[in-house]
Amino acid sequence: MRHFAVIGSGPAGFYTAEALEKAYGDAARIDILDRYPVPYGLIRFGVAPDHQSLKAVSKRYDKVAESAGVDFIGNVTVGRDVSIDELLELYDAVILAIGAPHDRKLGIPGEDLPGVVGSAEFVGWYNGHPDFADLDPPLSGTCAAVIGNGNVALDCARILSKTRSEFEGSDIVGHALDALDASAIRTVTILGRRGPHQIAMTPKELGELGHLEAASPVVDVADFPPSEADEALEPGQRKSIKILREFAATPPDSAKPKCMVFDFFAKPLRIEGDGKAEKIVVERTELDDKGAARGTGETYEVPASLIISAIGYSTQPIGDLPFEGGKFINEGGRIAERLYAVGWARRGPTGTIGTNRPDGYEVADLIASAMPLGSAGDRAGAGGLKRLLEDRGVMATDYDDWRKIEETEVANARPGSPREKFVRIEHWLDTLGR
Ligand code: NAP
Repeated sequence: MRHFAVIGSGPAGFYTAEALEKAYGDAARIDILDRYPVPYGLIRFGVAPDHQSLKAVSKRYDKVAESAGVDFIGNVTVGRDVSIDELLELYDAVILAIGAPHDRKLGIPGEDLPGVVGSAEFVGWYNGHPDFADLDPPLSGTCAAVIGNGNVALDCARILSKTRSEFEGSDIVGHALDALDASAIRTVTILGRRGPHQIAMTPKELGELGHLEAASPVVDVADFPPSEADEALEPGQRKSIKILREFAATPPDSAKPKCMVFDFFAKPLRIEGDGKAEKIVVERTELDDKGAARGTGETYEVPASLIISAIGYSTQPIGDLPFEGGKFINEGGRIAERLYAVGWARRGPTGTIGTNRPDGYEVADLIASAMPLGSAGDRAGAGGLKRLLEDRGVMATDYDDWRKIEETEVANARPGSPREKFVRIEHWLDTLGR
C-alpha cells in the first residue's frame, strides 16, 4: 500500500488527489491536509462570493473526498504542527498544493499606511477567511483605488460597487455585506501601469461591470491604440478590448451613483496621507519598445482612503525548502526526492481553476512513474500522522467534522444566501464541541 499526503485542499490539491486515486485505485491511500477545519482553499476563500457558478466545481471535489481511498485531515498546519521531514517519514510522497496566499508587496513609500490593504486581505475579509475577519477596511470615504489590471482587481472593484440586493444568492459573509451596504464609496479607480491591450482581465469578468445596478464603468477612449491594432491580439484579449471600447463609447449612466474609473498608463509612485492613506501619487507611463511601462515624468494624484493592491500573490515558504520568485523551485513539479509541488505553489499565481487539473495529473504521472503500481511501500501513513498529532495536542478534523461544520453554516444562512460562513476557527471548533 502506498501512502500519499497532499498538503492543501484547494483545486490543485483535489485534482492531484483525484489523479493519484485514478492511477493507484485501492493500492494507495491519499490524505488531503489543510490548515483549516474545512477544505477547498481558493474556492472557499478566494473565488468571489457572487461567482457561485465557479464555486460549483467543488461538487467534483466532494466526489473525490467521498471516495474510499481519500481522507481529509483538517486543522493541521504543516511546518508548525508537523514538519515536511516527518511527513516524508510517514508517506511515500508529499505533494505541496498550498497555493499562493500572500500579497506581493508594491515596494513604494506609504504602502504600510492604514487604509492600504492587499487583495488577499480584502478578498479574505469578504469571503470569511479567519485571518482577515478583523480587517475592517475603511469604507467611510467616497473614493477607493484598486491597483492592478487582473481579474482580482476586477473582483475587488465589483464587490465595492454592488448593492446589497446584488449579493442575493452569494455567500458573502454577513460582516462584509453590512459594511459594504453602509459604504460611502462612490468612485473606484482601477489603476493599470500599462494600457488596455496589456490587461490581464478576462471578457466574462470585465463584461459584468457593464451590468451593475448602481455603478457605471468609465474608460477614456484616448487610452486606446488605433482599432486596427486589436487584430493582432489573441481572441480572448480581443474580446476584452471590445468590451473596454464599448465602455469608452458609453457615457456613464446618470441614474447610477457610483463609477469604476479605468485609469491606464498610471504607475503608483507613493501613497500619502496624514496618518492614513488619503491619495496615491501616480506617474503617467508609456510603453517602451518591449511593451514595459516607462515613466514619462508627469505625475498626478488620485484621491483614495481605501487602496487595494491587487498585483498578484506569493506562496508561503516552508522551512528551508528551495524557494524563489514566490514559488517552490521545482522541475516539472518535482522539488526533491518524493517531494512535489502542484498548482500555484509550483507555477506561481496564474491561470484559472481548471489550469490546476492538467497540472495535478502531470505530477501524479510523475509520482506513478517513480513508484509504479505494484511496487512496495511500507510507511505508516494516516495512522502514524494521527498518533503524532494526538501526542502534540493538535485537534485535527476529519471528513465528518467538515460536514458537520458545513451543515451548521447552511443552517445559519441568511435568506437568499447558500450559507453563513464561520469566520473564526474557535467557532468552527465550538460547533464540534472541542
Ligand atoms: P494577475 O492576473 O497576474 O494580474 C496582476 C496585475 O497586477 C497585472 O495587471 C500587473 O500588471 C499588475 N501589477 C503587477 N505588479 C504591479 C506593480 N508593481 N504596480 C502596478 N501594477 C502591477 O493577478 P491576479 O489578478 O491576482 O490574478 C491571479 C490569477 O487568478 C490570474 O490567473 C487570474 O486570471 C485568476 N483569477 C481568475 C478569476 C476568474 O476567472 N473569475 C478571478 C480572480 C482571479 P503588468 O501586466 O503590467 O505586470
